[in-house]
Amino acid sequence: VDLAIKDTTLITFKDEGPSVIKNGAVGVEMDKICFVGKTEDLDEENYTKIIDGSDHVTMPGLIDAHIHSGLSLLRGTAQDVPEIEWMDKALGPIVKHLEKSDFITGSKLGILEGLRSGTTTFGEFTSDLDETIEKVHKPFGTRVVGAETINEIVDKKGDIYELESSDEQFQKADDLFDRYAQSDLIDITYGPQALDMVTLETLRKIKHEADEYDRCIHMHVAQGGRERKQIKSRYGCSTVEKLKEEEILQDNLLAAHCHDTTDQEKKTIVESETNMVGCPSSIATIDGIVPPIHRFLSLGGNACLGTDQIPGNGAHNIFREMRTISLLSKCLDGDPTALPAWKCLKIATKNGAKALGLKDKIGSLEEGKKADLITVDLKNTNLSPSVQRPFRNIIPNLVYSSTGMEVDNVFINGRKVLRDGKFISIDEERIKKEAEERAKKVLSEAEESWRRSDSKMVEYERDDLL
Ligand SMILES: [Zn+2]
Repeated sequence: VDLAIKDTTLITFKDEGPSVIKNGAVGVEMDKICFVGKTEDLDEENYTKIIDGSDHVTMPGLIDAHIHSGLSLLRGTAQDVPEIEWMDKALGPIVKHLEKSDFITGSKLGILEGLRSGTTTFGEFTSDLDETIEKVHKPFGTRVVGAETINEIVDKKGDIYELESSDEQFQKADDLFDRYAQSDLIDITYGPQALDMVTLETLRKIKHEADEYDRCIHMHVAQGGRERKQIKSRYGCSTVEKLKEEEILQDNLLAAHCHDTTDQEKKTIVESETNMVGCPSSIATIDGIVPPIHRFLSLGGNACLGTDQIPGNGAHNIFREMRTISLLSKCLDGDPTALPAWKCLKIATKNGAKALGLKDKIGSLEEGKKADLITVDLKNTNLSPSVQRPFRNIIPNLVYSSTGMEVDNVFINGRKVLRDGKFISIDEERIKKEAEERAKKVLSEAEESWRRSDSKMVEYERDDLL
């Protein structure tokens, strides 16, 4: 047998709660977990390598269930602006200057950041998904559940967008299921961008195929006023009502955001067993809204975490998202009990796995599951002191005190990606250097049209506030 980590504090999420094992050990054979238990019950002689896990937590790798990693070159370029101008005025003039390869360079940086902070599975949502998989996720060895974007808007100028069903886009997305059918680390879902951005014809085709072949759908749902207006005018109802009518709401759907929903609609989503992913830093920054994660949880639904895109969020770091959603939920309700630490850890692991259709494979430390696991060094100043008796402070410290940089070992599918805080076969410095060079180039090419964009970002720059 390959390796074991011993004398560690295991957070397993085997059952409903965190199921912590003190003086625990976990054994890995090939790509799977072969032992979870007490160190004293570990048959050490069976293992070629034993890692000392003392002063460390060992837990399931974190799951970023909704990420557009390709925009990572644009970190810090659009935030603190009114929602309506974020996309069109602040980002728009810059995005136009991104070349195709810049999305890959950006994705490398974004995924690198996620990995460094303990994320092992990424719910990637992008166009040209195959390129991102081949050039980023495969070489990095990350687990990915990818959605190829299907967006059928052909004209955005009028009050109501003009859509045209695109067989080409559907086919491109559909082909990926066969292409990656044999891959252990790559899963594919359908990615209709949102109800207001695809035709009913395509959506029905997607639903039919998903039901027929047992596939998942990942989709932005009820994102706000603009969508509401489109849907109302087209179908005379709300997004959730229409999705229900089309029987899209079911357990193979991962619905992103869902903040523009009534209490009754949230209930409808939960009752249909649809999974929900919220992106706290992103939606708080761009819209000033708290993703209704704790609402879905208290209704008994499955909700999890995503980082969305770098501009707005600022990071692809699930440790930050755990803390952010806890604080936002407390503030929204004026109730410090709204979302306790252990639930934040659970939505970032077990719930994420279920949402991405991988609950039998990952999300908890259990014998037979894939060995996607991380260790966190509790000796860091910000995680100190770490005590076990008379009660543990470890889970609150992981959620409220960790920055993610205390993650020092990352295993995905049994393979070590990060060792003692250093990447094993990823050239971190080169990726950062490339990203910086390209970002500088893109921004200087975009400067002129950006300055003319009448965005608050331009004002900030003029007043030397950035
Ligand atoms: Zn998104």
